[in-house]
Amino acid sequence: MTTSTPDTHPPEVIHFAARTSIEQVEEGHDLAPKFDQDGLIACVTTDATSGEVLMLGYMNRDALEKTIQTGEAHYWSRSRQVLWHKGATSGLVQRVVEIRIDDDQDAVWLRVSLSAGTYAAPASCHVGYRSCFYRTIELQTGKIGYAENAKTFDPKQVYGDAPNPTIL
Ligand SMILES: [Zn+2]
Repeated sequence: MTTSTPDTHPPEVIHFAARTSIEQVEEGHDLAPKFDQDGLIACVTTDATSGEVLMLGYMNRDALEKTIQTGEAHYWSRSRQVLWHKGATSGLVQRVVEIRIDDDQDAVWLRVSLSAGTYAAPASCHVGYRSCFYRTIELQTGKIGYAENAKTFDPKQVYGDAPNPTIL
């Protein structure tokens, strides 16, 4: 039998620099993210192994900071207006392999590895699909098709009666 000591390191303080010059923002070493008028920055998340786009989300300062500190994806839920630790309810945590920021530092790219939680296969989307982008739009006709032909998990089983985050 082994005992493990809990990791008691305090989280690093993440410093977001003021944006002072194009050179600094584009080619410097300062992390100087640009949050929009709502205090948010766009985040695209891909599967670190397959490269598949999993979702597009938004982060506020807190979410970006917590993602950096914990190595697990945190977002700002615009529909629920809460900090959202992805997988806190479902167990489908996104473990960050790499974080990138774009040229003008107004978008973040998370490369993650998906945990399967207690389910058969790893997934990311609350509807039950692997990727939020589980549908296609046909060129010329605009018709909807399905890129994933089956759900990876049953959302009822995972989320129970939790309110659906999709807002009409
Ligand atoms: Zn989704």
